[in-house]
Amino acid sequence: MIHFLIFDGIMGMEGMGPAYGKPKPVGMVVVSDHPLSADAVASRMMGFRPGDIPHLKLAFLKGLGEIRLGKISIEPKDYIKWVNPFEPPPETFSLIFPDVVVYDKGSCSACLSTLMIFLQKYHNKLDNYRLSDQKIHIGIGKYIDPCPNGTILIGSCTSRLKHKGIFVGGCPPISSQIHQTLFP
Ligand code: SF4
Repeated sequence: MIHFLIFDGIMGMEGMGPAYGKPKPVGMVVVSDHPLSADAVASRMMGFRPGDIPHLKLAFLKGLGEIRLGKISIEPKDYIKWVNPFEPPPETFSLIFPDVVVYDKGSCSACLSTLMIFLQKYHNKLDNYRLSDQKIHIGIGKYIDPCPNGTILIGSCTSRLKHKGIFVGGCPPISSQIHQTLFP
């Protein structure tokens, strides 16, 4: 159980966080005795509405805590004047690897940014993972559809398909974790 939470927003990252976005100095720290409320307040300070963020809304609807800002005791009362809007993750992005097929349904920016970093670093070492079409197949996201045997499955969300391919767990897995699984 969490008794006290410190949310370090001294240096943030906007856009394709948590690894592939733009660093954003904010100089803010949020402390709270409830993690869900801390997330709600921090997201508001980043310019988002907590109720628009699916996992916060889901946690609230499941009774795990409060995200309605009017129901949370927040100090200082005029906190809103320090709101510092963040750029959201891009709606779409394209990979620059024509020989990579990505099956993505329901992934979040965390797995996508990990995948980008991993491909940039290790794409040229993946020849052993090419399938019969000579392409490298990668699956991410919680709603991913069935994909070919031998697909590299990135992130815990894909675990239900792990019998089909090479599974790298983690939420998100970090680039070195993927490397460790593929190149033991
Ligand atoms: S495994 Fe975690 S980080 Fe990756 S898509 Fe699923 S929820 Fe997002």
